[in-house]
Amino acid sequence: ANEGYGYYAARVGEHLGDGRYNIVRKLGWGRDSNVWLARDLVEKRYVALKILSAHATKTHHISLELELKLLHRLKNTNPAHPGYKHILSILDHFSITGKEAGEDVSHLCLVSEVLGEGVGSIRRRSEGLMLPQGMVKTILRQVLQALDYVHRECRIVHTDIKPDNMLTIPQDLDSFVEHSLTTEPPSSRPVIDSLGRKIQQHTSQPLKYSPSSPSSSIQIKLIDFGHSCPSEPHSTHTVQPLELRAPEVILGLPWSTPVDIWSLGCCTFELLTGAWLFNPQAEKGWTTEDDALAKMIEYTGESFPDEMTGEDGRSTGRTKQYFERDIFLGRLRRITEFDSLPVEEILQKYIPIKGQELYECGSFLREMLHLRPADRSDASTLLRHKWLEDY
Ligand code: ADP
Ligand code: MG
Repeated sequence: ANEGYGYYAARVGEHLGDGRYNIVRKLGWGRDSNVWLARDLVEKRYVALKILSAHATKTHHISLELELKLLHRLKNTNPAHPGYKHILSILDHFSITGKEAGEDVSHLCLVSEVLGEGVGSIRRRSEGLMLPQGMVKTILRQVLQALDYVHRECRIVHTDIKPDNMLTIPQDLDSFVEHSLTTEPPSSRPVIDSLGRKIQQHTSQPLKYSPSSPSSSIQIKLIDFGHSCPSEPHSTHTVQPLELRAPEVILGLPWSTPVDIWSLGCCTFELLTGAWLFNPQAEKGWTTEDDALAKMIEYTGESFPDEMTGEDGRSTGRTKQYFERDIFLGRLRRITEFDSLPVEEILQKYIPIKGQELYECGSFLREMLHLRPADRSDASTLLRHKWLEDY
């Protein structure tokens, strides 16, 4: 059904992987894949089958071999680490052949455990489009454990940290699956907008997480390592949606694990308030990227260090595109007027938070949102932050 976009057109009832996996229903989709619920006939259990598009299989930034190497690293580096249980475990992988414009194309299939509703979906159907602070802290503690494992032990950058890539762990998998089979599956066909971009469809029922017990018991796993990179050598290609994109990525500078911390800072704000912290807009005279950089200066109250503006003489990346040279050295080229808008003030626009709570929440966000990547706290430091302590 999705030909032209390189998706494999799987059918319910189809057997894949030498007959081992029987397709039951669709669980979801992303930019690069469709994910199916399948019955593993050998182990007699349900699994999730992520079928990468032919396009993703072929043009992954990192070669397929490297992606499998990273998945292997995630699985084997240190199962005793407390973050390990918050990482999706891959059980098996194989390739299948599909048709694209009459030609044979290859699709990588990743088999994993079945997880529940995503944090993004829970947020979108919650009152005020936001989650209670206690629940946000519970989610963050687990994502930070996961990131500590991914960053420090596996030396991998996830690069796509966002609420839709944080899935709940169903408390009772079999009844969760039974329930999912009696509800309407997500549309089998992604909606394509007028520019030919695939957009997420919200009208069909996602699998629901039902917090039968208090929200502090929510269990989370980090998924989707399809765009992950080794943390060394540093990459410079563009990653992350613009709303969650770290400044060094916009500037085309070498980036590493701190880009995940930046995104998580943006996600924290989003989960707490239901709004994007940075919602960059183009105006006459400047681009969305210019606007993002200007808002970063305004909300953090920081200025970009010399090594990020090219002022240190080593004009790397795209710094010249955004920053002045010569007498206005280091100033943004197209935006010259700034408001002072501390992140605490923006928080207060959306939620009733004040006093000590506001101070600690603001401090937590600031630790993640320093303009200079090396100034951002790492995951294990953030886990000890005062704001995450109580619940
Ligand atoms: P992409 O790289 O295409 O974004 P993801 O790995 O994020 O692919 O998967 C796309 C969607 O499929 C997710 O947002 C989620 O809704 C669903 N999904 C992915 N993996 C699982 C899983 N193990 N269990 C349940 N649903 C999943
Ligand atoms: Mg995804």
